[in-house]
Amino acid sequence: MPTPLFHATTGYFLGKFLPQKPIPRFYPFRRFNLHIFYPVFVATCADFDFIPQTLTGIPLHRGWSHSLVFMLSFSLIVGWVASKIWKTSYQQLFRFTLILYSSHLILDFFAEGRGIKLFLPFLDQFFKSPLLIFPGIHHSRGLFDLSHFIPVLYELLLSAVLYGFLTQWQLYKAYKADKSAIKNNIYVHPQLHSKKSVKSSDSSS
Ligand SMILES: [Zn+2]
Repeated sequence: MPTPLFHATTGYFLGKFLPQKPIPRFYPFRRFNLHIFYPVFVATCADFDFIPQTLTGIPLHRGWSHSLVFMLSFSLIVGWVASKIWKTSYQQLFRFTLILYSSHLILDFFAEGRGIKLFLPFLDQFFKSPLLIFPGIHHSRGLFDLSHFIPVLYELLLSAVLYGFLTQWQLYKAYKADKSAIKNNIYVHPQLHSKKSVKSSDSSS
């Protein structure tokens, strides 16, 4: 399973780099301020199921909170509450929350380990991809076990590569937008110019 740190990083990237269309228009998330905690929290919170597991001793981790039904219910309710707090479109915040929460399930699905109970309550079974992208982390060995070193290093490198790629992509999009704005100006300008010249020739005649 990816570490909570990588889930949080993914939430941050989604908050910062998602195209404008699927996310709220007013967009405070793109700046690194308190609002960035919303995407980070939503992308991470499925793993908070370790709290009831620790309290009750019942193996709940990667169960209900990692199911599609929970993901949908969570996005409907939390998206609604957030839309009321920020007074913005419910539809957009629901969509944004759904994308963030699903990022957690997708990452866990492609990680080593027993998988996630994706189809609860219909199927009480763990599912994982046959193609695995993330090495497993054995949480039972404690927080600072040496065996965590390689997965954590892998995630750090992956985060750095992703950050580099996304920053370049954003710069490229901005460059393209600038270029087309300049092109439109050049295209519109001669038209305006010719209209002006027609008008001036009309008035002079
Ligand atoms: Zn998880």
